[in-house]
Amino acid sequence: MKRCRTCHPPTMKPLSEFSLDAYRPDGHRSQCKECANKNTARYLSDHPDYVQTNYENNKEEMAKKYREQHPLMPKKTDDPNYQHNYYLANSERIKAQAEKWRAENPGRVLELNSARESGRGPSGSRSGGGIRRRGRATPLCLGRGDSISHDL
Ligand SMILES: [Zn+2]
Repeated sequence: MKRCRTCHPPTMKPLSEFSLDAYRPDGHRSQCKECANKNTARYLSDHPDYVQTNYENNKEEMAKKYREQHPLMPKKTDDPNYQHNYYLANSERIKAQAEKWRAENPGRVLELNSARESGRGPSGSRSGGGIRRRGRATPLCLGRGDSISHDL
């Protein structure tokens, strides 16, 4: 028996109710299959884009494409300061590219600005928090572009 910490209330269930996970000390996931299914269903309903783009199947290709389209963006890294340092080292180039992009895509800027205003919570920080997101393709670069202007 193993306790599922995701069930409400936390529930003891037989190990057969937990999916296998070789990386866990007991070889099973910390949440039961039922909870995992619920989480997946909720994730998919919260992230319709995920289904549409079949992100998992295409992420390598998407990442490659993203790098081709955004040659100035740093590669993905786990160092939270990396992007900031990268920006400091390349600020002139990045600024020029961001201005060029905005000049070429005026409609998208408005669209993104209004989307961000409605989506921003009270905890939205402007001191580097805007560049924490990574690993998603679209408005990633735009969010960074905007946070760059805050930092100037
Ligand atoms: Zn559960």
